[in-house]
Amino acid sequence: MILPNRSGFFGDFGGKFVPETLMAPLDELERAYRVARKDRAFGRELDLLLKNFVGRPTPLTEVKRFGELCGGVSLFLKREDLNHTGAHKINNALGQALLAKRMGKARIIAETGAGQHGVATATACALLGLECVVYMGEVDMARQELNVFRMRLMGAEVVPVASGSRTLKDAINEAIRDWVTNVGTTHYIIGSVLGPHPYPMIVRDFQAVIGREALAQLRRETGREPDVAVACIGGGSNAIGLFYEMLKRSSIRLIGVEAGGRGPGLGDHAARFEGGALGVLHGTRSMVLQDAHGQIAETHSVSAGLDYPSIGPEHAYYQGTKRIEYHSCDDALALEAFHRLSETEGIIPALESAHAIGWLMRNGETLGTGSLVVANLSGRGDKDVPQVAVMEGREP
Ligand SMILES: *Cc1c(COP(=O)(O)O)cnc(C)c1O
Repeated sequence: MILPNRSGFFGDFGGKFVPETLMAPLDELERAYRVARKDRAFGRELDLLLKNFVGRPTPLTEVKRFGELCGGVSLFLKREDLNHTGAHKINNALGQALLAKRMGKARIIAETGAGQHGVATATACALLGLECVVYMGEVDMARQELNVFRMRLMGAEVVPVASGSRTLKDAINEAIRDWVTNVGTTHYIIGSVLGPHPYPMIVRDFQAVIGREALAQLRRETGREPDVAVACIGGGSNAIGLFYEMLKRSSIRLIGVEAGGRGPGLGDHAARFEGGALGVLHGTRSMVLQDAHGQIAETHSVSAGLDYPSIGPEHAYYQGTKRIEYHSCDDALALEAFHRLSETEGIIPALESAHAIGWLMRNGETLGTGSLVVANLSGRGDKDVPQVAVMEGREP
């Protein structure tokens, strides 16, 4: 079965819940994407940029000492942290920017929370000569000053968003408002497998390179396929990117790890499968953290990139079919993993990625000694070092 279906649904999840004015542009985007996907020249251009600009293929690194700390599993990290700009987000930003150019749209807008997707989009726009406007909540701008400066260095306009909780979901609202107004000239680059159809499909396809490479690299290194694959989940793009090629190989266990935050109370975490209910947010139907009246709940995570009240609809679908298992890792365990991986392997992980490896530290034993595990290291932790230093009462 090919998912999503023609209306953009993954079973009960997904779809296009948008104002009338966006139906035609979403159709236009889907048509353009389907043509581009079949066009060899488009594929070649993207592959060449991924190789020579982004630095793909990213390495697969065996981490023996850290694997010992995870119950003695044989652990390999897929090193998305070594991409240009430091995370997997550039795979999608570059793909969509190329697509926009092909569609004749010279203006790009994007939303960003922690700033990683904004930086990736600003980077792709600088490279391709596109105008770039990034919406960012005021609270996030204050927390992530360095990323604001990076975006501006590359010529992007960063627009502060002062409404609501002044964080990611408010920035998305503003970006959608801009898109409705300027849709003739503007492409909206969404940063994860979220939003109305066709976005969850497009972002997934651009990120699926992660899993294709990982499978080929593991076969070369070990002669076999992994027993288990693990990734952290904000919206879910790095996870579905790793898992997509593995979905049809039923012997591989797939495990997604959400942010458990500081506890199970509503507002204290971003674990949509443990605390959420069916709802519609930002154009798609999925699991959403909300109160008894359906108001979107506040979320909390030590990592800004996992801190979103909904989750990609394709994940909601695979949670229902049980093909992917979902668990959570809390702030404290993620911080511990952040330190242990740094000390044992000389790799400082992004706090987001630290959730995947934190889960492995606590649960690796249950996977069986010697089982072959691949974990996605979605980004590098340099951006998080000042925050961790302050949290731990040290000068950065
Ligand atoms: C944005 C981000 C995430 C979370 O987004 P997904 O769409 O769930 O992948 C995870 N890791 C890093 C490093 C990020 O920048």
